[in-house]
Amino acid sequence: MPLSRLQPIGSFLGLHDSISLDLLREDELHPLVSGNKFRKLKYNVQAALQGSYPGILTFGGAYSNHLVATAAACAEARIKSIGIVRGEEVARLWKGNPTLSTAAGLGMELHFVSREVYASKRGNVWADWKSLLGLDSSKDYLVLPEGGTNELAIQGCAEILEDCDDYDVVVAAVGTGGTLAGLIRGSSPQQHIIGISALPESGMSDLIRTFTKRTNWEIRYDYHGGRYASITPDLVQFMNTFYQQSGIPLDPVYTAKMLWGLKELFNSGQLSSDQRVLAIHTGGLQGIAGMNQKLEKKQWPRILDPSE
Ligand SMILES: *Cc1c(COP(=O)(O)O)cnc(C)c1O
Repeated sequence: MPLSRLQPIGSFLGLHDSISLDLLREDELHPLVSGNKFRKLKYNVQAALQGSYPGILTFGGAYSNHLVATAAACAEARIKSIGIVRGEEVARLWKGNPTLSTAAGLGMELHFVSREVYASKRGNVWADWKSLLGLDSSKDYLVLPEGGTNELAIQGCAEILEDCDDYDVVVAAVGTGGTLAGLIRGSSPQQHIIGISALPESGMSDLIRTFTKRTNWEIRYDYHGGRYASITPDLVQFMNTFYQQSGIPLDPVYTAKMLWGLKELFNSGQLSSDQRVLAIHTGGLQGIAGMNQKLEKKQWPRILDPSE
């Protein structure tokens, strides 16, 4: 048995009874370090502890699941965390931002930098950030790239597919591609891994190839809706209907678009009842609150939020 719960979900997507589709509930691994972020942080936090780093420094946007997850994982491990946030303008508004308030509440030290500085420096070394931000620490922090993707993260994500050899096809959402790289590594040779991208192609295939030489995978870019974190009333309705029927909440940025795409792959005959399919719920539910703030401004229907 895998670590997380498996639930059949074909009927909740309106698919034919003959279809074999299960959802792996990685979102239930931890209340705040949800899903793939738990897997990605596991060995990185261990490395920080073993290397006696005072904490972890990492990067993200104003609604980043990765920032919250890192803040929570570091709090639990009793080490410090520093979050570099993209966009100086966010600094004025962040107290009303549920993601950043949660991260700060967990003890994360937030620094806001311009998009230019963020783009030029991300992934850079501790010493650069220390001098740029005037950070006060005699010892280096462990620096994690945006989205938390590095070799240790891939090793953690490879564990998601333990005891899942019965499935022919595995489907998961793609951001940086780190999670997919781990799934590919953890897969057995006869399995096919499909990534549904949350954003237009921006180098994730190349990144995946730096972590694995295997070729039993593909990424689909048809279901992101134009750009990262885009939302439509149709997507909100899809999420709410799925939640009402199944009791399973989805996040608007990754898992909702992944299941939407998966449904399309079945409906267009690209997947069929001949294949046993496993979808991965990678978590991200903390992002619902931030998305609902945007939806309220537009006066569009809200996403049902299980945390309310
Ligand atoms: C971060 C995230 C992803 C994307 O993971 P990558 O490893 O960056 O591809 C997918 N789903 C959820 C819920 C996430 O928070």
